[in-house]
Amino acid sequence: MTRVFSGIQPSGELHIGNYLGAVQNWVRLQHQQDCLFSIVDLHAITQPYEPGDLAQLTLDMAVSLYAVGLDPEKCIVFVQSHVVEHTELNWLLTTVTPLGELERQTQFKDKAQRQESVPAGLLAYPILQAADVLLYKASLVPVGEDQVQHLELMREIARRWNARYGQGYFPEPQPLLTKTKRVLGLDSKAKMSKSLGNTIGLFEAPEAIWEKLRPAATDPARKTRKDPGTPEICNIYTLHQGFSPPATVDEVAQQCRTAGWGCLDCKRVLADNMIANLKPMRERAAQLKREPAGVLERLRKGAGRAQALARRTIAEVRDRMGLLKPGGD
Ligand code: SF4
Repeated sequence: MTRVFSGIQPSGELHIGNYLGAVQNWVRLQHQQDCLFSIVDLHAITQPYEPGDLAQLTLDMAVSLYAVGLDPEKCIVFVQSHVVEHTELNWLLTTVTPLGELERQTQFKDKAQRQESVPAGLLAYPILQAADVLLYKASLVPVGEDQVQHLELMREIARRWNARYGQGYFPEPQPLLTKTKRVLGLDSKAKMSKSLGNTIGLFEAPEAIWEKLRPAATDPARKTRKDPGTPEICNIYTLHQGFSPPATVDEVAQQCRTAGWGCLDCKRVLADNMIANLKPMRERAAQLKREPAGVLERLRKGAGRAQALARRTIAEVRDRMGLLKPGGD
């Protein structure tokens, strides 16, 4: 089995966008590969955030991950800051990372533009990402298109470290490009995102799901009930592909093109399928929320398993970099 690492920001409960775009794939991957999934709170603090909210958002994300089906028996789920070796390897890798490469990262340039004073952590973000992956010698990283540049840099960091301290020590991580869907928000204007308020939470009540879907944007060509549409350009059709059975997806396409269904009919079918799909997850989430101590215990065990792997790497890395071992070792 190949080792896979992926991280998600502690943004609270999952919404259908990050579920269909990433986490649904993780649930599949845990049965096929040796997977570590981390809630990357140390990455989150490179952006403006509310310290009083971070712990709860991290816990809510953990609840979400377990509720959608990540199984601690099949994969390792943990909070990044609970395994301190991430920050140690981050520093060690800083010493081989070219500054120019960091400054060229598109995400850095975008985010830095929006901040009055740019923290060094924002610039160094890709080094911590490299540390996340290399700490476990993971060779596959599920990535979205916006992360491909960071992965390139991660490979460059691995190459430079290997060249200096031990050829072939770190594998050069490869992107695991999957057929993940880019889900737009309900306004169909931008990617689904909590900060834009255009999401449907994964555990929302059935009535709330319908209330949000009903006014959602569709193909603008369908001005009246009689106007045919193009399903491929409609976000509701994308969501059908995530939640409806294949036969229904085919029927949606046909009914849309022939104006057989109105958009409201189409959305009602989607709402019913979405609600049915999400019901077991909503129930599991409610159960987990009633027992936060159990969630913390799962995270503690996950961090323990991750740390056992991390410590081995750190010991070898320190050794190869020539650092004096502490007395007694
Ligand atoms: S019928 Fe469905 S797929 Fe077609 S435009 Fe309306 S909502 Fe979108």
